[in-house]
Amino acid sequence: MGKHFLLAICLFLIPLSCKTNPSSAIKKPIVFVSIVPQKYFVDKISGGIFDCQVMVPPGMNVHAYEPKPQQMSLLSIAKAYFCIGLEFEGPWLPKFSALAPSMSIVKTDSSISKLASGDKDDREPNGRDPHIWLSPKLVKRQIAVIALALARLDTAHASVFIKNCDSFSVEIDSLDAHIKALLPCDSLQNKRPFLVFHPTWGYFAKDYCLSQIAIEIDGKEPSPQTMKALLDTARRYKITTVFAQPEYSKKTAEIIANEIGAKVVDADGLAYDWQNNLLNVAKNFAARAN
Ligand code: ZN
Repeated sequence: MGKHFLLAICLFLIPLSCKTNPSSAIKKPIVFVSIVPQKYFVDKISGGIFDCQVMVPPGMNVHAYEPKPQQMSLLSIAKAYFCIGLEFEGPWLPKFSALAPSMSIVKTDSSISKLASGDKDDREPNGRDPHIWLSPKLVKRQIAVIALALARLDTAHASVFIKNCDSFSVEIDSLDAHIKALLPCDSLQNKRPFLVFHPTWGYFAKDYCLSQIAIEIDGKEPSPQTMKALLDTARRYKITTVFAQPEYSKKTAEIIANEIGAKVVDADGLAYDWQNNLLNVAKNFAARAN
């Protein structure tokens, strides 16, 4: 075998090995969700088979979001969009569909009858409370919808998604039992009131015998009259804590806390680690709700 022959083989192999590199970095199929806790749900079920992108980045207001141009280009190659019934989805979903006609729009709130937004957080068109991702029993319904949709997108892994959904459901049952032990429901008449800036916790309050009093009304800071009524209520219930959310300014919460001698404590409704976060918030409510 001559030198030239070996050289020829080497020259042949080099470009071949270059060509094989890109195929080893095959991208995962992309799916979109509206908010961070939904990414946790999808990741738990897909087990990393799908690349789950979040529309509203951490720290942004989930009730008033404008998708960015870079997100729209990623969306154009997405396989599915898991919507949850937030206000911005209404005007934007038709635009998403126009951009990605083959993308499935999956309504994860389809089997859920929503509470009237009693705290007047009704920028949602039908005046319903959109915060359904903070009730463990409602999340079980949402993950079932997610698992079926992923199974339809990737039939080869359908049994993996269904199995992951089953084990996540068991974890959610145990989370629910844990929270019920922290916040026992003796009687529906005996709901423990708590004061919170943005009315995120309506479903959570309903599940665990709490009564949510919100500072923000219609997505706006309270008027002087409302502020006075809030302070009277807080004093009547001997409220010692004002719960706040990291994505909103704490100024008003701090003003109220100062007036009534209370402390401001975070109750994050949008953390990625949904299970641990919900348990931590429940511990804070248990220690600090009246
Ligand atoms: Zn909200």
